[in-house]
Amino acid sequence: MNSNTALLIVDVQYGFMPGGGLAVADGDAVVPVINRVASLFKNAVFTQDWHPANHVSFSSNHPGRQPFETISLHYGEQILWPTHCVQGTRDADLHDDLLVPQAQLIIRKGFHRDVDSYSAFMEADRKTSTGLAAYLKARGITSVYLCGLATDYCVAWSALDARSAGFEAAVIEDACRAIDLNGSLQKAWHAMTEAGVGRITSAQLLAS
Ligand SMILES: [Zn+2]
Repeated sequence: MNSNTALLIVDVQYGFMPGGGLAVADGDAVVPVINRVASLFKNAVFTQDWHPANHVSFSSNHPGRQPFETISLHYGEQILWPTHCVQGTRDADLHDDLLVPQAQLIIRKGFHRDVDSYSAFMEADRKTSTGLAAYLKARGITSVYLCGLATDYCVAWSALDARSAGFEAAVIEDACRAIDLNGSLQKAWHAMTEAGVGRITSAQLLAS
């Protein structure tokens, strides 16, 4: 990959692994795939979901509510999640087996108590920037490949925001796993296709 391209590795954290706070089925299967493709990239960026314990997205902070219910917040609809990726806990750590020594940045997100942030670029209020677009542009990066967890939430929102910010974007589909809540995976792929997000496999990438 040339220096205008970056790999964006989304939320490959214990919280999203089997046994984690918000386990994604087969989530740990992405780690070896990511390690294989990462060797192709000069530029790599991690995201890390990084919530305070009193975060608004946790059902435990809304008495009487259950995980996966939806509520209305000041910025719109919010799914309530089980407690996950609390700052400084093992649940929030990046997976130990990730082997991407050339990674240059970790973008932490979801640290504002009152706003969730699925996307690596924009928080869920759709106004607060994480700074990632400006960082990539300052480094002359014009194209991003995405992988990680979960396909239908943080990967998809990041890919859509990458397109909105003017980047080329493609998702490495076998380097991702989904939550798939109420058809969310199909909806996410539809939205990404409409927005011009590419879809590629690790095998295609490694052969290219
Ligand atoms: Zn989260």
